[in-house]
Amino acid sequence: MPVTTYDAVVIGGGPAGLQAALTLGRMHRTALLLDSGEYRNAPAEHLHNFATHDGMPPAEFRSAARADLAAYGTVEVRDLLATAVTRDDDGFRVDLADGSPVAARALVLATGVADTLPDLPGLQPIFGTVAATCPYCHGHEFSGKHVAVLGNGPHTARVALLVERIASSRTVLTDGGELDPATRALLDRAGVAVREEPVKGVCRSAVGATVSFADGPDEEVGGLFVSGPFAQRAPFAEQLGLSLLDSGCVEVDAMGRTSAPGVFAAGDMAHTSATPMPMASVLTAAASGLVAAVSADAHLLGRDHDLS
Ligand SMILES: Cc1cc2nc3c(=O)[nH]c(=O)nc-3n(C[C@H](O)[C@H](O)[C@H](O)COP(=O)(O)OP(=O)(O)OC[C@H]3O[C@@H](n4cnc5c(N)ncnc54)[C@H](O)[C@@H]3O)c2cc1C
Repeated sequence: MPVTTYDAVVIGGGPAGLQAALTLGRMHRTALLLDSGEYRNAPAEHLHNFATHDGMPPAEFRSAARADLAAYGTVEVRDLLATAVTRDDDGFRVDLADGSPVAARALVLATGVADTLPDLPGLQPIFGTVAATCPYCHGHEFSGKHVAVLGNGPHTARVALLVERIASSRTVLTDGGELDPATRALLDRAGVAVREEPVKGVCRSAVGATVSFADGPDEEVGGLFVSGPFAQRAPFAEQLGLSLLDSGCVEVDAMGRTSAPGVFAAGDMAHTSATPMPMASVLTAAASGLVAAVSADAHLLGRDHDLS
């Protein structure tokens, strides 16, 4: 069977990939967008902090973006997992879960990252509503409520300080861990309570959630901040031998170019070395998708016209 060749294959149908496909479509590039349906903000009922889209359900955002793409005849969208990417003489081969490979002259990777939540019974069902990771995305929603922050590192203290104007009161839950004396003193000065007992679990309640402890009384919270490690959702950075940063993300330059010619990356999976980690936001992901697509288009232009 002949293999279809696209100017660009965009892997990822989150905000980064959707915007990249839109930009390529507007330049009449043939583009295939692949989407395996695993979105980082899937647990969230609403997305926030995006002018014109504040409070919109994430699925609605993606549908609207797909409707935009439908106006561009050179863009094809398939709800399909890409299983492998390999470089060939003239570009790339992308293997798909249905067994039908496609070819690409340029690749835009926008496959996102996957979060690992703290191993806390009851956390998963409340993650994305009562429990959150980012005060910029889900902080205002806890206005005037008692908020807890789970953890014992510098990040924990920082989140507790960030929500000082939003929450009515705050507690850091160290879950049996110990805060270093400087962090403890900082929290004391800022009026943040600290509970060091091991946390047994969380359970949705009328207020938000009830936190139970191995020892001591339950605590009712309106919001709970948690954090955990994240990792590349797809294996393509490894398959293509792309340079990675300490965060585990793909290193890109300001134009979304990776260390491999013809491969561009956008969204949460990539950032420049000037930032310690990706600025995880829908708006930032979409903006970087646009930049990566413009670079892919420039790469194709260079090849079409032998530009140096
Ligand atoms: C609970 C939660 C709530 C959040 N709320 C907000 C918020 O309110 N506001 C905000 O600005 N940000 C929010 N964020 C952050 C935001 O979700 C991310 O920054 C954003 O989704 C990143 O977009 P992305 O396109 O890089 O990745 P994603 O949205 O994660 O999309 C990745 C895409 O790649 C696809 N993919 C991966 N592997 C493959 C493969 N092998 N083949 C085909 N497709 C593949 C996936 O299916 C998906 O389509 C939240 C994050 C979390 C965890």
